[in-house]
Amino acid sequence: MPEGHTIHRLARDQARDLQGRGVEATAGQARFAEGAERLHGQVLLGTEAWGKHLFHEYDSGDVLHVHLGLIGKFFRRTAEPRPEPTPTTRLRLAGDEVAWDLIGPMTCRLVSPDEQAAVVAKLGPDPLRRDADPERMWAKLQRSSKPIGLLMMEQDVVAGVGNVYRSEILNIVGVDPRRPGRQVTRDEFDAIWAEAVRQLKLGVKRNRIVTMAPEDLPRPLNRLRRGEGRYAYKQEACGRCQTVLDVYPLAGRTTWSCPTCQPA
Ligand SMILES: [Zn+2]
Repeated sequence: MPEGHTIHRLARDQARDLQGRGVEATAGQARFAEGAERLHGQVLLGTEAWGKHLFHEYDSGDVLHVHLGLIGKFFRRTAEPRPEPTPTTRLRLAGDEVAWDLIGPMTCRLVSPDEQAAVVAKLGPDPLRRDADPERMWAKLQRSSKPIGLLMMEQDVVAGVGNVYRSEILNIVGVDPRRPGRQVTRDEFDAIWAEAVRQLKLGVKRNRIVTMAPEDLPRPLNRLRRGEGRYAYKQEACGRCQTVLDVYPLAGRTTWSCPTCQPA
């Protein structure tokens, strides 16, 4: 599943490509045909991301709400002539030069600004947003006996962190993912939040997840192979100390942690 950096990057790139003029909206499948018809010709005023939710604000007051879910994906098309939308295209939004095709999202719907606010009200702070309030996450941790590695996956605790980032951030700050939320100290929490902000920002910039510091990378950034550049996620040995990692499920997804760097 895409993590928050992907959604923020999409918000940024789609605003650059489509904002400020009427969009050409088409659907390749019946499922969102009415929505596409309604959007067609509307002017995109702005885009916004909160965790894994993407919003487009249009001049009529309509808001397009997209959640990619497990398999959803956006494709940016620049080729001319542009291929026709296929039966899997839920929505195509096109400007003069670029089209964005949305395939397989969990959510694609038009909502009102009030409905958008209701979606956002259920989400925890998003480390990528300037208005994020980390105290809300801290308050939730303090009240919970659930493991920190599970809490970091709950979108009402912190929005945008997924399985890769939770494994990496907890490894970097040295906290065992199985530790109950309420036993995380304030200093550890501050480190977790700061690392989440730093890592997610790097993710937006690079449009991929590489958490290793430059001096730890096995080869230069532009030559990394898929999955390289991480300390714990899908690794056999810890990228910081080479200890063999513990592997176990947490929140229904596999987690990796280092018994040396992240003592119980
Ligand atoms: Zn280690």
